Amino acid sequence: MREGRCDLLVIGSGAGGLSAAVTAAHLGLKVIVAEKDPQFGGTTAWSGGWMWLPRNPLAVEAGIVEPIDEPLNYLRHELGERFDEARARAFLDAAPRMVQFFRAKTALRFIDGNAIPDFHGRTPHASTGGRSLCAAPFDGRRLGARIADLKPPLPETTLWGMGIASGAELRHFLNAMRKPASFWYVTKRVMAHWKDLLLHRRGMRLVNGNALVTALAASAFEVGVDIRTRSPARRLLRDGERVTGAVLHTPDGPIEVHAARGVLLACGGFPHDTERKRALLPHAPTGTEHWSAASRGNTGDGLRLGESAGARVGTDGLQAAALAPVSLVPQRDGSFAHFPHLIERAKPGLIMVRADGQRFANEADSYHDVMQALLRATPAGQPVQAWLVCDHSFMRHYGLGAAKPAPMPLGPMLANGYLKRGRTLAELAHVCGIAADGLERTVQRYNAMALAGKDEDFAKGETPYNRMQGDATFAAERGWSNACMGPLERGPFYAVRVVAGSLGTFAGLKVNAQAQVLGEHGQPIPGLYAGGNDMDSMMAGHYPAGGITLGPAMTFGWIAAHHASNRPLPV
Ligand SMILES: Cc1cc2nc3c(=O)[nH]c(=O)nc-3n(C[C@H](O)[C@H](O)[C@H](O)COP(=O)(O)OP(=O)(O)OC[C@H]3O[C@@H](n4cnc5c(N)ncnc54)[C@H](O)[C@@H]3O)c2cc1C
Repeated sequence: MREGRCDLLVIGSGAGGLSAAVTAAHLGLKVIVAEKDPQFGGTTAWSGGWMWLPRNPLAVEAGIVEPIDEPLNYLRHELGERFDEARARAFLDAAPRMVQFFRAKTALRFIDGNAIPDFHGRTPHASTGGRSLCAAPFDGRRLGARIADLKPPLPETTLWGMGIASGAELRHFLNAMRKPASFWYVTKRVMAHWKDLLLHRRGMRLVNGNALVTALAASAFEVGVDIRTRSPARRLLRDGERVTGAVLHTPDGPIEVHAARGVLLACGGFPHDTERKRALLPHAPTGTEHWSAASRGNTGDGLRLGESAGARVGTDGLQAAALAPVSLVPQRDGSFAHFPHLIERAKPGLIMVRADGQRFANEADSYHDVMQALLRATPAGQPVQAWLVCDHSFMRHYGLGAAKPAPMPLGPMLANGYLKRGRTLAELAHVCGIAADGLERTVQRYNAMALAGKDEDFAKGETPYNRMQGDATFAAERGWSNACMGPLERGPFYAVRVVAGSLGTFAGLKVNAQAQVLGEHGQPIPGLYAGGNDMDSMMAGHYPAGGITLGPAMTFGWIAAHHASNRPLPV
């Protein structure tokens, strides 16, 4: 068999892998990144690119200064008995320094999340802003010819392949038909994108997770990291207890890569591993009743490779996946894209109901919380499903899932059955298979509460996170006082069915605070690290804030690289 050599072999090219790869190369190691897919980037390339990184330098520069005990105690309250202080401290201590490193030494730049609150504003020590960062937009041309190897954004979340940055840019797109300034912003952006399509056959102004991956990859190439696509790792090489490399299956045949300082597994967890889903997700008894929006190549390889070296997968988390309501978007080839509903649920004028026509949750809460509420509300033996319901005015302003707002046509999404429509609520209920009287009663009650500005049933719009996700301006223009609530009044009415899905998985290989994978008796397995979602989440199945997968993925990748290089973390 052919052989290759490096110091650190990183398996998987999402944020978890690339953070470690870039850092290790800066510390002088020769690094190879093996990626199974034809393109690098994984789910990270589809993500919002937000990272929960409390006490980060951008917050501090804006005057948001908090002692480590603030986010630490927030986690302590959120995670309860599952709080692991050693890992939480290691993360919170290193996160600001990790950001400092990437800002100073690499192509990655950040934009602040100083107005983004934690998910659970009622938990002690929750923050109203300053604990998160997003990757700044990145010019794809900086990748040169390797842009062809970059995974494009998830098509359903783009406009003609153009990613739309969260925050101000998204607001411009939603207001394009109502506000001249937004119209011009969108026109310019779309024109520039069409120019990119003509010249490069893809958009070059990259945003969100696509920008994060590209900035990391560009930084990796600058310091000589060898990123090999179409090269799945199939087996670990070992010398006694020590992991010394892996066998990659490349287009030119298998190759043994020997890694003097070790191997970091960052294959993105098990979102598409039917067997592991069956074992760890109670709502998926056959392993198929879970439709993750994560990258399809994430089939649990890292967890199996780890187990082959004696590692254990954590099974004690509150939830084994980062849950999200997902709708299934029919594709021309008969398959379905999995669309995660992250944005429109909190906007004024939408409700979520089950087949009985009843609401079951505060729709403006996080995707993880809404999905947990749906799981709780679903009687045993019934399918886990719900419908997002809105009226015509909402539909044209915000869109519903993969069905986009005006001026995009609704016809194709109605024709393929994704979007359901009814002239009346009763007709919509009939089309969806929802109890019509239940839905009518729910909307009547909801409309009254919306006009009064108070959700007596689920307290929608009462936390800073709810309000940030809502739309206070749009609501105020209509005289509604709750940023997340508006009446559903004018038909036709629309609905999209959602099922149980996720953004990725939480359960992973047990590790210590240096990201070293632990063996059966809790001892580190020499030469083996885990990153990203291959690492058992330090949040233990809880979801305290947006960015709690990418923040730790970036931070522990940085920590692991220092450990593998035998270098102390910089002060
Ligand atoms: C639409 C969407 C939005 C999201 N937004 C956010 C957000 O804003 N903030 C946040 O924190 N999280 C977000 N998430 C979740 C986040 O994207 C993931 O948790 C994160 O990207 C996982 O990073 P990773 O490095 O573990 O895996 P990935 O980025 O998925 O990378 C894993 C890579 O490993 C490769 N691989 C698998 N098996 C092998 C093998 N045997 N050999 C070689 N390579 C292999 C895969 O092909 C893949 O490319 C979002 C998810 C989605 C779907």
